[in-house]
Amino acid sequence: MDTPNLSHMFADQLPELTVPWQAESAPSPQLLVLNEPLAQHLGLDVDWLRSTEGLEFLLGHRLPEDAQPVAMAYSGHQFGQFSPRLGDGRALLLGEITDVEGQLHDLHLKGSGPTPFSRGGDGRGAVGPMLREYLLSEAMAALGVPTTRALAVVTTGRRIQRGQVVPGAVLVRVADSHLRVGTMQYARMLDGDNDLLARLADQVIDRHYPELAQREDKYLALAGAIMDTQTATVARWMRLGFVHGVMNTDNTTLSGETIDYGPCAFLDSYDLAEVYSSIDQQGRYAFGNQPGVLGWNLARLAESMLPLFHEDPDQALSIAQDLLDSFDSRSQAAASRELAFALDVPEDAREVIAGYQALLAAHSGGNLDLTRFQRSLVTAAAGEDTQLKELLAADTKDTAGTEEQVDQWLNSWLTYSPSATRLGGIHPSYIPRNHLVEEALSLAQEGDLSAFHQLLEVVTHPFDEQLSLTRYAHPAPADFGPYRTFCGT
Ligand code: AMP
Ligand code: MG
Repeated sequence: MDTPNLSHMFADQLPELTVPWQAESAPSPQLLVLNEPLAQHLGLDVDWLRSTEGLEFLLGHRLPEDAQPVAMAYSGHQFGQFSPRLGDGRALLLGEITDVEGQLHDLHLKGSGPTPFSRGGDGRGAVGPMLREYLLSEAMAALGVPTTRALAVVTTGRRIQRGQVVPGAVLVRVADSHLRVGTMQYARMLDGDNDLLARLADQVIDRHYPELAQREDKYLALAGAIMDTQTATVARWMRLGFVHGVMNTDNTTLSGETIDYGPCAFLDSYDLAEVYSSIDQQGRYAFGNQPGVLGWNLARLAESMLPLFHEDPDQALSIAQDLLDSFDSRSQAAASRELAFALDVPEDAREVIAGYQALLAAHSGGNLDLTRFQRSLVTAAAGEDTQLKELLAADTKDTAGTEEQVDQWLNSWLTYSPSATRLGGIHPSYIPRNHLVEEALSLAQEGDLSAFHQLLEVVTHPFDEQLSLTRYAHPAPADFGPYRTFCGT
């Protein structure tokens, strides 16, 4: 097979947001994991990818002659503090690739060596965190969450320093795009005459919201559309118990895809205050804060787009203010839509949806296993609610006296005749549970990938319940935790 074609639309149209760059060499590359279904979807030949040439392609060392790999520039509010120049400190956009359906995707490396944005970092990735992103992002995709994807993990043969010496690795990432709120912030910061800002916004429309292209108020419509896709994504996180962990503006995409699987984790037990990230000491990105933080990030987006809303600054501000005033209701509507879907009831079944939210809220901070509980909705819909009630009753949080409310809620829900079959494809049996992820990664670090592959297989088929997989559906042993996760490792 010839080296696959890559386009370079981003580099061509937005050169101010790029630094032409190359991936660093790898002393002794070895393919650890390859996502064959994704590779096929991208029109890539799986056998060729496994060859020496294919491996060189995956590492950015063998690209088509006209390729223009670039490090992307962006800003970001990190824990509320503005960093004007972040950018790809250990990543590289190889170019765009067209899938078999004609859709364009970014082909991007993470851990490909230092760039002008590295700010003292080594630009590399450690094998554990790169495998972790592979596992988590592929699980999210299988769960129906908009997300960047993982095409491959390749170890480089380089030993890198992470407290101890560990094997270095590159993650090959695929995304609808890597445009972020922080990209818009960077363009706003650079731009004197707003030409760059408009070119960036036009590319976002072109790639993600083409239906807006002809609208007179297309930039305001764009900001609204980003609000809608992002609120839908975060509503899905909330339904599944996903804690992103580092919702900085550089980690909030304009496409609505979940990006950056550094410190993320799924809830071990339902707790709106849960924080796993070791650096999030104030709990800014706690599970229950995520919808609100998204609102904060989108306010930064609207600020950066002000000149596109109106040439008169006062009018631009008032337009942005109206947009941001709509955030709460749009976010709540997204949450309701998500729960209507998850309960298989119509969106106007307000009482059932609010009752479900209240039921979960009453259990926040106890030890309710959200995944098992929601999976028990499947059998409850078929008329067997013993497991659902047992799981609620076993919660260590004192919810005495709520049994009657549970019965009432169940009755009102069942009047809508939710379909057990449909619910079985919505509520997973298997998520990447923290103790299983840690077990698989520590074995992988010692060179044994069998547990990793088994877990990957299970979490990428999250609805296919099997008795032999019971261990994957059970909570962590009592002595596991408190669980801590890490950024940028
Ligand atoms: P993240 O926490 O992954 O969103 O990263 C925030 C910023 O730090 C981005 O600009 C990254 O490119 C940069 N960064 C993270 N890890 C490294 C590293 N090992 N070397 C250089 N830059 C890094
Ligand atoms: Mg990031």
